[in-house]
Amino acid sequence: MTTVEHFEIAVVGGGIAGASAAWALAEEGHEVAVVEREDSLAAHSTGRSAAQFLSSYSGPVNRELSAESQPFLEGNANGWADHQLMSPRAVLWVSPDAGREQLDAIAAANQSIGVAFDMLDGEGARDLCPVLDPSWVHGGVVEHGGYDIDVAELHQAYVRAARSAGATVMRHRGVRRMARHGTGWQLDTDGPAIRADIVVNAAGAWADEIAEMAGAAPLGLIPYRRTIFTFTSQHPSEHWPLVIGADESFYFKPEGAGQFLGSPADEHPDEPCDAKPRELDVAAGIEAVNRATLLDVRSIRSAWAGLRTFSPDRNPVVGFDRDIEGFFWCAGQGGTGIQTSPAVARLTASLIRASSSDPSEHAALASLAPKLSPERFRA
Ligand SMILES: Cc1cc2nc3c(=O)[nH]c(=O)nc-3n(C[C@H](O)[C@H](O)[C@H](O)COP(=O)(O)OP(=O)(O)OC[C@H]3O[C@@H](n4cnc5c(N)ncnc54)[C@H](O)[C@@H]3O)c2cc1C
Repeated sequence: MTTVEHFEIAVVGGGIAGASAAWALAEEGHEVAVVEREDSLAAHSTGRSAAQFLSSYSGPVNRELSAESQPFLEGNANGWADHQLMSPRAVLWVSPDAGREQLDAIAAANQSIGVAFDMLDGEGARDLCPVLDPSWVHGGVVEHGGYDIDVAELHQAYVRAARSAGATVMRHRGVRRMARHGTGWQLDTDGPAIRADIVVNAAGAWADEIAEMAGAAPLGLIPYRRTIFTFTSQHPSEHWPLVIGADESFYFKPEGAGQFLGSPADEHPDEPCDAKPRELDVAAGIEAVNRATLLDVRSIRSAWAGLRTFSPDRNPVVGFDRDIEGFFWCAGQGGTGIQTSPAVARLTASLIRASSSDPSEHAALASLAPKLSPERFRA
């Protein structure tokens, strides 16, 4: 006899989007299962990020989601984290002369969200990061609302909180097929089938594929590959900021004990896959860091790549699909999926509850809901 497991909500994908949605939904009393294909829940984008909180990053919608998320992250995930999740790290945008307009735009973004910042000349930038090349750097903006995020601990905190509220987490359970069954869904997986009233699609780069399995039209999500490499340098760098080219052509930051993380901040359209770094992209990143600094990077310790999956307007997609009953999107988190995860998860839970009650208690989130709804792509 085939076994079938029953839940109220099946969340497909166990990355930061799925784990945080499971937390928010389970806390509201829903019976939730997280259904993940891999052995490790953070095997894909979630485990490959730059682990940065950057208030001014991305467009206004993501900035608002980030601001809504910040108190939860600063509060160590309502105490579910075993240690501090956020460690202050200023963010220094730097530019040769030609980039002054970009610096002005970054300053304006900070002003619009009330984050403290200072405009700097080349010398001011070098005071914060003495290895910037004086012949290259001519200006900068330092923003004071930046943090390193302990992503692994945040992800674990969501899983812990979700489990303690009764959620079930399944690994090695790739979803292969999905069909309506009675008033809900049946998901055929690598293990026993699962039945659920609602499916939450938190499958990251695979979210359009999951939608097609459910009979929903894809939204045109595009996974863009980004490369990260690590290197060592003996400079005393503990208090240096995250340094980003104002044209976003590179970034680097110290990670303690002489270790650095760097990136060419590349954005190559890709397929949903286990992304791998390309030598050319690593070389471009090293070249960009060496052009702007005196670090003289010659070899790297490791490199990886991950996918940042964007919707056509580069805002996340959070909401029920208009055409397919019981199918909820939680996708397209792009380059801010870690730092916006608390707000996106709360919105997910409140929209699912809104099918039966009032989402207005999170007033700011409720006003964002139309901007995140999948309906905006269903003209
Ligand atoms: C290089 C890089 C740097 C970044 N830096 C930052 C940063 O500094 N700050 C920030 O906030 N964000 C950053 N991001 C973005 C952030 O990492 C992502 O937005 C976020 O991790 C997306 O989470 P997710 O859960 O949607 O995706 P994922 O972590 O990819 O999770 C999706 C999951 O769905 C599973 N899945 C797919 N198909 C199926 C199926 N059929 N059945 C079951 N499971 C399935 C996958 O196995 C996967 O585990 C960065 C990303 C990259 C790549």
